[in-house]
Amino acid sequence: MSNCLTVTNAVEHAFCPRFTYFQLVLGIEQREDKRGTVQSGRTFHSRHSTTNKNYKIKRIDGIKQTELLLYSKKHSFSGKIDEAIETEDEILLIERKYSDYILINSTIKTQLGLLAILAEENTGKKVNKALVVFNKTERVEVPVNITEKIKQTALLMLQKTNSTITSGDMPYSKHDNRCTNCCYRKICP
Ligand code: SF4
Repeated sequence: MSNCLTVTNAVEHAFCPRFTYFQLVLGIEQREDKRGTVQSGRTFHSRHSTTNKNYKIKRIDGIKQTELLLYSKKHSFSGKIDEAIETEDEILLIERKYSDYILINSTIKTQLGLLAILAEENTGKKVNKALVVFNKTERVEVPVNITEKIKQTALLMLQKTNSTITSGDMPYSKHDNRCTNCCYRKICP
């Protein structure tokens, strides 16, 4: 893979492949304020990984790690782990989502798979599990097994992101309720 993409690039491609086209082929930046749910999610992330550095899910033993910027030499991509618990031989990823929509969808799987690859390559420790904490009107924790399939599917998403950039062609995407708050909706055919 020639370009150094980020986990965010692949996650956005999983959300809609036309994000890659508008952003990384045509160079049209996103207007973040038009993406309310993503923005709120990021705020929730940063609160937990910066000001709450010592807060830890009590029943999980290990050292809390935050804001880990990592690079994969093997697959040429980078990304940031907002929060993780590191034990002697394992890393548990923690992902917080400001949402009532409790679903481990392809964007979350892409994110977890790629972050697991980054953590394993950089620490030499296994990532077997992640905990996704949905927290808006109520708090729901969803454990996710990080399987080889999740990691391989996430890598494939990274490759598709790269292929879209290399080809320069606008990928197919159907219009649905994702488009309602999309910053590209006015220019998306
Ligand atoms: S308007 Fe819809 S199809 Fe077009 S980029 Fe946005 S989410 Fe994708």
